[in-house]
Amino acid sequence: MHDIWNPWHGCVKCSEGCRHCYMYFLDSVRDRNGADIYKTSSGFTYPVQKNRNGSYKIQNGELIRVCMSSDFFLEEAD
Ligand code: SF4
Repeated sequence: MHDIWNPWHGCVKCSEGCRHCYMYFLDSVRDRNGADIYKTSSGFTYPVQKNRNGSYKIQNGELIRVCMSSDFFLEEAD
């Protein structure tokens, strides 16, 4: 497991299963609002970004966790 790729952050509570959402909890601890949806600084291009030596930050075949702080199906995440 290499890393986490969060293209955007924030989400909309849409079901009973969202009641104890860890992202909302962690945002509240950091005095943020989990309902604020925005692109992250690593952005959408992270999987193709390279290090200074020219190699990809994410190596071929590595597993990464994706979209840990949001949902792929948000209208705001177009
Ligand atoms: S991140 Fe998951 S649990 Fe949290 S509000 Fe979005 S869909 Fe619900």
